[in-house]
Amino acid sequence: MSTEDTASGDRQNCVSCGVNIVRAGFTDFDCPECGHHIHRCRKCRKQSNLYRCPECGFTGP
Ligand SMILES: [Zn+2]
Ligand SMILES: [Zn+2]
Repeated sequence: MSTEDTASGDRQNCVSCGVNIVRAGFTDFDCPECGHHIHRCRKCRKQSNLYRCPECGFTGP
């Protein structure tokens, strides 16, 4: 389990609800704790669902 960012294209999941994110309508940002790249779907963003960083476990709004 050491291959993470090898040419990952459009296979991303929302960190809040786990839905497979399609290109249209998602937001991504870096974890304020560890800098891990986080993807979130539009719905969760709109609802301000909590997210949890899969790397460090940081949770935020
Ligand atoms: Zn979501
Ligand atoms: Zn993190």
